Amino acid sequence: MSEQLDVLAIAAHRDDVEQTCGGTLLKMAELGHRTGILDLTRGEMGTRGTEAERAAEAAAAAKILKVSWRQALDIPDARVENSYENRLKIARVVRETRPRAVILPYWEGRHPDHYTCSTLGYEACFLAGLTKLQLEGKPHRPFKIVYATLYYDIRPSFVVDITEQFEKRLESIYAYKSQFTDQEAGAADFPAQADIRDQVSAMAYFYGRLAGVKYAEPFLQKEVGLVDDLTAIPVKSI
Ligand SMILES: [Zn+2]
Repeated sequence: MSEQLDVLAIAAHRDDVEQTCGGTLLKMAELGHRTGILDLTRGEMGTRGTEAERAAEAAAAAKILKVSWRQALDIPDARVENSYENRLKIARVVRETRPRAVILPYWEGRHPDHYTCSTLGYEACFLAGLTKLQLEGKPHRPFKIVYATLYYDIRPSFVVDITEQFEKRLESIYAYKSQFTDQEAGAADFPAQADIRDQVSAMAYFYGRLAGVKYAEPFLQKEVGLVDDLTAIPVKSI
């Protein structure tokens, strides 16, 4: 029971959560929710850093974001496949951590691991709720799944105001020293260290402006929003 989470973010690679929804996870922890991160891979194919370095960096970043639980599965890096075996690995975690809400990456994108993680994660959450599934643990299906869209250019359904969490979120990205310090390996693909702050803040600022706050992170939900009181909707129209 001690593993039970309110919010679980599932991502393909260590540092994906920090880059797409780290501010939101920190905000949820500050609201008193128990949060967790499941990374599907361990980064052994990355241009920069070793698997061990990235594990230590992921732990440091989790601490900055006040995450209660973080694990990495052993799915091969750059080979995230939507197989039954992989669905079971994630379903096992969903049963163990019993999250109320799950954050997945958006289902389109440049990196195949990212968009595959989206459908793989969704199907695993479904599977985890099947009573007759031959898998240890009590059946559990999250109440809510939302998709972090920051890696893809699509208009979000909603954004989360992370103005208060912005600096800590940036710090959690910098915790990945093997990835984001200046070096020759991967120089064409990675931003220079001095540019990271500009890039991260420009994106957060853009999404913040869509809802009238300074910094925000974007999400998409498949369902239509449900409203009880028109006067309580927090976003200004004109
Ligand atoms: Zn990634």
